[in-house]
Amino acid sequence: MAELLIPPAQQLIDGEWAPARDKGELPVTDPATGQTIQAVARAGRADVDDAVAAARRAFPGWAATSPSERGALLRRWAELIGRHVEELAAHEARDVGKPLSGGRMNGYIAQGIVDYFAGAADKLTGVTLPTRSPGYLGYTVQEPYGVCAVVIPWNVPSVLTAANVAPALAAGNTVVLKPSEVAPLAPLALAELARRAGFPPGVLNVLTGEGAEAGAALTSHPGVNHISFVGSTTTGRAIMRAAAENLVPVKLELGGKSPNVLFADADMDVAIPAIVGSITENAGQNCYAGSRLLVEASVKDEVVERIAAAMRAVRLGPWDADLDMGPLISEAQYRRVLGFLEEAPRQGARLVTGGGPAREWAREWAGERAGGRPDGWFVEPTVFDDVDPGSRLYREEVFGPVLAVQAFSGTAQAVEMMNDTDFGLLACVWTNDVSRALRLAGEVRSGQVSVNQFADAGVIGFPFNMQKDSGFSRGGGHGAMREYTQEKAVAIRLLDR
Ligand code: NAD
Repeated sequence: MAELLIPPAQQLIDGEWAPARDKGELPVTDPATGQTIQAVARAGRADVDDAVAAARRAFPGWAATSPSERGALLRRWAELIGRHVEELAAHEARDVGKPLSGGRMNGYIAQGIVDYFAGAADKLTGVTLPTRSPGYLGYTVQEPYGVCAVVIPWNVPSVLTAANVAPALAAGNTVVLKPSEVAPLAPLALAELARRAGFPPGVLNVLTGEGAEAGAALTSHPGVNHISFVGSTTTGRAIMRAAAENLVPVKLELGGKSPNVLFADADMDVAIPAIVGSITENAGQNCYAGSRLLVEASVKDEVVERIAAAMRAVRLGPWDADLDMGPLISEAQYRRVLGFLEEAPRQGARLVTGGGPAREWAREWAGERAGGRPDGWFVEPTVFDDVDPGSRLYREEVFGPVLAVQAFSGTAQAVEMMNDTDFGLLACVWTNDVSRALRLAGEVRSGQVSVNQFADAGVIGFPFNMQKDSGFSRGGGHGAMREYTQEKAVAIRLLDR
């Protein structure tokens, strides 16, 4: 089995690894050390032109391939991901700074997603429409758009590559993927596995480069027919403006400020570790992170104490120490998160635990291995109580291990506070009262709700939906096949009747 190496400073265009046209490069660094892992190509406008042209050439042949054949290639890709999951995990973990087991989990999730869309490829159907008399036939077909531009962030690159590329390809589109400049290695590794699986040249192209450069050139390119963007709300707005110029559809999956809503009757032994995990997994750098805790007033003090103790027990270290939490992705992110930590007490929040940098903490946990790594962007898992609903900490996405707590009294207030946010990604409700759980699930303004678990564990093909400033998409599940297709309606008069 060939090793899963990524050719330094090269990107995948038209089935070939090649440097940027102007030979530009970008370093990719390990956030636990600041050391360079390897260089990747720095794509410019000419590379974007090449990749879009390759995808346009490949489109007619790929769209004409039978859906079963497309499914078979996706299945082969999924198998290769499974076989190389350890290497893939190492690429993602090192690049993002997350524990190796987190990278491994995402590798398996990516495999499962590609496998799901392998099975979905030949199950995409239109509908037959009712007619006024037997002399007519009406039906719809789902057709691919053409070239899909996929732009993704750095936090879960394997999963986001799979979740956006696999349905697009399954539906018969070709793809130009632009991963984040700070974590492009896992997407490049996945592209190499797709190449080995036998996708025709040009069907999947990957450009590495900066957002303002390669990303902007790709999303404003007139040869692109559909844009799928995952990232911050600010960049999402810029991408939608670019899409307006070319009148292409956009799928946006943006930021979040997801609440865990905890009632006094909940099973605390299940809820508390899950709530801690929801804000420390990936160092809180998840779009759906449970960054707000709304807790029933009668149990607040006890809950906050238990959560603080669990946060203090989180083990920090570099990716290969494989502990509970790694550093933040970059210096910029580190400074941003520390800014929130400094500002929150001035805006009235009460610091319960954490609140600052955590390099010493990481060294202690990871021992010698972290001893030579003084420069990681480690931040303490932090809890603030009594957070003012008007404060930045309560309203903005921090993207770090920082939990904002507020108390509520009664179901009506829980609903009101749960919805008091511009975002609408995920809400988690913790209660043993099924009627109350159903009321909250009905009244919440978010794309996803989970009850007595954080997120969608145990459900296959759970749609990754968004509302409000979190975006709009039909990502995940069978709906994603529709997201990547346009509907054509056909009306026929049967003349020989
Ligand atoms: P970001 O918006 O800075 O960058 C995302 C991607 O867009 C990167 O590939 C970047 O290079 C590119 N980009 C930046 N400027 C661009 C431009 N002008 N034109 C085109 N492309 C451009 O986001 P980030 O910091 O990489 O990621 C963190 C954000 O992603 C958070 O807000 C998080 O909530 C969000 N996110 C959302 C989901 C979801 O499914 N809703 C999933 C993961 C992350």
